[in-house]
Amino acid sequence: MTSTRAFWEKHGEATTTAICAVFVTCGFVVERNVGPSWLSTALFLSGYIAGGYRQAIEGTTKLFVERELDVDLLMVVAAIGAAGIGYWFDGALLIFIFALSGALEGYASARTQRDIESLIALNPEEAQLVVATGETRVAIETLRVGDVVVIRPGERVPADGRVAEGSSLVDQASITGEAAPVSKRVGDEVFAGTINGQGGLRVTVSKPAAETVLARIIEMVREAQERRPAAQLFIEKFERIYANVVVLGAVLFVVVPIFVLKWTFDAAWYRAMVFLVVASPCALAASMMPALLSALSNGARNGVLFKGSTFVEALGKVRAVAFDKTGTLTTGRLEVVQTVAADGSDPVALLARSAAIEAMSEHPIGHAIVAAARRQGALIETVRDFQATIGVGAQAELDGVRWHVGKAELFASVPPQLAVGRDRFERAGDTVVLVGDVTARGLIVLRDTVRSNAIEAVSELRRLGIEHVAILTGDNQGAAQIVANAVGADRVHANLLPADKVRIVEEMMARFGSVAVVGDGVNDAPALAIATVGIAMGAGGTDVALDTADVVLTADDIGRIPYAIELGRRTLRIVKQNVVIAVSVMVLLVCADVLGRISLPAGVVGHEGSTLLVTLSGLRLLFQLRSAKVPGIPPALRARTDAVS
Ligand code: ADP
Ligand code: MG
Repeated sequence: MTSTRAFWEKHGEATTTAICAVFVTCGFVVERNVGPSWLSTALFLSGYIAGGYRQAIEGTTKLFVERELDVDLLMVVAAIGAAGIGYWFDGALLIFIFALSGALEGYASARTQRDIESLIALNPEEAQLVVATGETRVAIETLRVGDVVVIRPGERVPADGRVAEGSSLVDQASITGEAAPVSKRVGDEVFAGTINGQGGLRVTVSKPAAETVLARIIEMVREAQERRPAAQLFIEKFERIYANVVVLGAVLFVVVPIFVLKWTFDAAWYRAMVFLVVASPCALAASMMPALLSALSNGARNGVLFKGSTFVEALGKVRAVAFDKTGTLTTGRLEVVQTVAADGSDPVALLARSAAIEAMSEHPIGHAIVAAARRQGALIETVRDFQATIGVGAQAELDGVRWHVGKAELFASVPPQLAVGRDRFERAGDTVVLVGDVTARGLIVLRDTVRSNAIEAVSELRRLGIEHVAILTGDNQGAAQIVANAVGADRVHANLLPADKVRIVEEMMARFGSVAVVGDGVNDAPALAIATVGIAMGAGGTDVALDTADVVLTADDIGRIPYAIELGRRTLRIVKQNVVIAVSVMVLLVCADVLGRISLPAGVVGHEGSTLLVTLSGLRLLFQLRSAKVPGIPPALRARTDAVS
């Protein structure tokens, strides 16, 4: 029984449209072959009911409950009005084409809905929790931070967390889009919804079920569907007012010709019904949403999540792009290449002390320092009162002394030999942080790698005519310049605090109008927020960046940005075309009607034809334009789609 319901929910509109088509065709055949008129009338009537009952019920409820006139109801009224003066076929044709365009629009939103469902299917439901007596199966909602769960080979990871025991290869395609499984050992991060390979793992849960990366992505896609862009809201409001104008016009159309021009009632009524049809703004209403929903769906299948359809359009208008460096243009997986202690003390001890502070940090530099200290077998102590200064560094209390890691301004003095060493490394393109208490006592040199597709991403942006590509970083000029040279950026802004990033983005917006900012860190969040479009790295990005951005790259792939801009542009173009088609067809048909030069079937075909045309035109965005390098459906949705087909 449930399967019947599922079928009905999915294909209900298409089915009733098909039934309507059959009845109308039969009615037409009977009528033409001079069959009994009661039979053709009965057939047409059945067609009316099959194709129009839904809108009739919805429209009347809306009229009486919300006191709002629905355009759909006008169509039903026009069809009944036509039937009333004997034009059964004309009305039936109207009902059929009208039902067909409704079914097509439903198809676009069903497609986006399906994309969301396939993501939800990835969401695990249960976890194997470690308890005092052994293991027990629990719902993931009951997991708490700090719980330990067991993940056996082939199982889906139930929560975001860190590996506490064991090692394995994990297929993270659903979250990051990486095709190859990633090796996970003790201390590594795993994500809910990814699939464990051959090893057994014990994982310490680090986030409640509602806050996992996957849960956030699902939430974002849901919201995106519901948020309607301002232009669409305007059209909807306009439509409501306009519907009343159309009814008034139709009434005038009956009254004026009868009393002024002395037409017969039937003739005037017929013109009025034609007017009701051709003047309705159905095509205008269908100009936007099918296109935008299709674009959202296309994006989701290509690793680009828009938090609302407004941002599809906004991205289409972007003329300049500002990239964060660390973690965005570079992998953010830094390596410590050298530790230098100023006073000849032990560099390993210095590294261990830095790691103790950075253990609390979310910054890529922090992760690198902790990893390096672990590799050297250093003992990482627990610190008190950790404080991060975004874009500058971090500090904490260790054995009663306040230690700092980060830029020079954190220290009262920097010994000349350290300053000289730092400048030399920085000129060579490395990232350097100082370590010390009041005085800097040493420095740590780190190296990052430019993402393999960063160069291509920037050159693609240029091909699309993006006028300006800038790099915004809190890191030093030398390191920034090396990356800029590698990818071919126009400008480098180094040594920036979060507020400086905002200022530069504002300057860019004043100069170029629409600016996209791409970033991953806490320090990028303010800039992401004020940019025309903020784009965040999905898996590698911090939670704040993810929350602030308008667009999320689920696969952390900046190579998808040019594709996303192209998608935005194409969407803009199609919506514009649609509005022009809708309005001009409407004006043309109304003029023809006023001049009495159009029959009801012709009006119906013209009007509904334009509605169908703009809907179909919007749906093109579902299929076109896959980013060239992405093999069709992205991994996030592949597992599910395979299972279905
Ligand atoms: P980006 O803009 O390139 O992502 P950030 O603004 O996050 O860089 O950091 C800028 C600089 O601030 C770093 O290059 C580093 O010198 C310092 N810094 C920030 N956070 C830390 C930290 N946790 N530990 C050490 N240094 C840090
Ligand atoms: Mg960054």
